[in-house]
Amino acid sequence: MANLSYSQAAQKALERERERVREKEREKELYSKGSVAQSINFVVDKAKGEFCLDCEEKFSLYLATILARDKENSDWLDEDIEYIDNITKYLKNISEIAPAISEDTERAFLEAVTCYCSTKLKYRLTKLNDTIKLHYRNEHVKSFEDLLSAKNDTNIITISGVCREYYKKVRYNNNIPTKFKEHIKKVGSYAVSVIGIVECARNVQYKSLFSNVEVYRAKPVIIKNQPIYSWKNIIRRFIDEDKYNRFMDGCSKKPEVMERISQVYTDKATQKQQPLDGDNVKQYIYLHAEMNILAFLIDNEIKSKVFIAVSKYCCYLCGLYIDLARKHGYRISFSGYHMKLYGRWILPHVKNKDFKAGSLKYILKCLDRIIKQKLNHDDTKSLSADPDSPGNSPDPDYSDGNYLYEYVGSFKVNNNNTYSFSRR
Ligand SMILES: [Zn+2]
Repeated sequence: MANLSYSQAAQKALERERERVREKEREKELYSKGSVAQSINFVVDKAKGEFCLDCEEKFSLYLATILARDKENSDWLDEDIEYIDNITKYLKNISEIAPAISEDTERAFLEAVTCYCSTKLKYRLTKLNDTIKLHYRNEHVKSFEDLLSAKNDTNIITISGVCREYYKKVRYNNNIPTKFKEHIKKVGSYAVSVIGIVECARNVQYKSLFSNVEVYRAKPVIIKNQPIYSWKNIIRRFIDEDKYNRFMDGCSKKPEVMERISQVYTDKATQKQQPLDGDNVKQYIYLHAEMNILAFLIDNEIKSKVFIAVSKYCCYLCGLYIDLARKHGYRISFSGYHMKLYGRWILPHVKNKDFKAGSLKYILKCLDRIIKQKLNHDDTKSLSADPDSPGNSPDPDYSDGNYLYEYVGSFKVNNNNTYSFSRR
């Protein structure tokens, strides 16, 4: 009898091990197909966003804007942790003494944000500068420049404030160069966020929300050496050798497609492109922030209404996973979807095995459909180009916010926080 149960247990262990191997295999297939799909169909559909957000959702989005890190896919740095602690402390402080106003705390808050976001903000300023050079004769561009020179301040958060003011005036005007208006909005989003956050913290209605704030930092999940099947291995599962050769011929005539393939299959560690038909291909993959939060909700079966704020719109694969979670009763919402497909995307490892297996199957099915569709065109004309990413910049509020400029005047001297536009 004892022997029998021993062999039953051994049998069960063996079965579990086989299932684990099968699951690993399916995941390898998922990550392999993700890489192929990104290469041949990067933009799956038009972006969807700008949904109507309530006050609390807007506040979350403002926070996501000022908390976004320069390097999203890396471990937390000491300076990130210190920054989050400080922001929490400042906001609790502002709220605690409301309706009185603590200028010192508000100034410290603004200075911390300006410093922490300076790399991202300057990157956006450079993009704005490029569109200004391009449209320097345009009357709207000129009126923006006038507004800016009237302020006579090169601090990046002041410039962001000017962009916020300007955007409020022109947001419904369609005669302005689109890119210029887009970049104005993106640069302005930092001032929009800090002012929006301060207004909420000053609001006595929200006192109990601020005093009860709890901060959780989820651990980033990164897999540096995920084995995947090669590009050719995957494509040959859909078409024969002849068709494959014709397809490759077509690709080789499209530099932007070859460029994307090369980018997707470049080994992050060595910066070299891996062979398209070899073994031992590896991929560097990571869990997107919204999936990290969603996995937490699923593991704890939190089915109340939750708005997940992200500094960017959700990608295509996150969108698929979110659809599935909603079908299982999770009431989650987001500010938008940019519909790009990133092959380095990690499937969340939730504790519920059925949910995990179901999500793997569902996403594989969608990837199969995408790859099949593109390959069956029998030409490479349909391989999509690479448009600029729509942002997730929050819309401006209706408050005045002029106190922002007054604080900047007494910032410590810091050349990192200034930017000068070059005209031509
Ligand atoms: Zn995503």
